[in-house]
Amino acid sequence: MEFETEKREEREKRVREIMKRLEEHYREVPMSFLEASTPWQLLFATILSAQCTDARVNKVTDLLYRKYRSVQDFADCDLRELERDIHSIGFYHSKARNLKACAAVLLEKYGGRVPDQLEELTALPGVGRKTANLILGRVYGKAAIVVDTHVRRVSNRLGLAKSSDPLKTELQLQDSIPREFWTRWNTRVMALGRTRCSSLKPKCESCYLKDLCPSRDGDPGYWRAARKKPGS
Ligand code: SF4
Repeated sequence: MEFETEKREEREKRVREIMKRLEEHYREVPMSFLEASTPWQLLFATILSAQCTDARVNKVTDLLYRKYRSVQDFADCDLRELERDIHSIGFYHSKARNLKACAAVLLEKYGGRVPDQLEELTALPGVGRKTANLILGRVYGKAAIVVDTHVRRVSNRLGLAKSSDPLKTELQLQDSIPREFWTRWNTRVMALGRTRCSSLKPKCESCYLKDLCPSRDGDPGYWRAARKKPGS
C-alpha cells in the first residue's frame, strides 16, 4: 500500500472498495453541507466558509439571502453594512469586499451567471481552487475533487495522496481515484473525517476502512509524514 509502489490496478480495486463502504455508511450525507438555492448563493456561501464552520455560515446566509436577494443587491450594497451583516464570520472585512467585487464581476462579465470553467471561476475575487471545484461539481455536475483539510488528512492517511499541499493532493487524488468518484469524494471523506478519522485521535478500531488503510492502529502514515515536510 505504499503510495509510490502500490500497483495501479490494486489501488483502483482498493479505492472502489473504500468508496463502496463510504457510500454505504454516508448514503444520506448531502453533496454540500452549505445551504443555498441558487448557484450564486452557493458560490457566496463557499466564499464565506473559508476558516469558518458550515453551520455558522448557514446561520448567517439564512438571514443574508433574505436581505440581499440577487447578485445585483450584493453589487449595489453598502460595504460597511455588508460587513456588519456577516461580522460573526471570521475575516468579514475581506469577505465582504470579495462578495461585493465578485458580484460586480459576475454582472459585468457573465450577465449575473456563475461561470462553469475552472479558470473563469478562479479569476473571481475571493474564489480559490477549492471553491471553484465545489461549484463545478455541485452546480454543473463536472468531475472535480474538492480538497479541504479533512480530504487532505484522510486521503493521505489512506495512502491515496502524499502531500500537505492542497493542489498536489488534488492532482495526486485525480490520479488515484476513478473519475466517477471525484465529485462525491469530498463529502464522503469529510463525513469519515468528522466521525472516525479525526485530526488528533483517529478511531481506527471502529473504522470500517481499517483493513484498507495503511495508517490504521497508530501507524504514523502518510499524513504525519507529509506534515513534516510542508510543500512536499
Ligand atoms: S483506519 Fe484509522 S487512519 Fe485509517 S481511515 Fe480509518 S480512522 Fe483514519
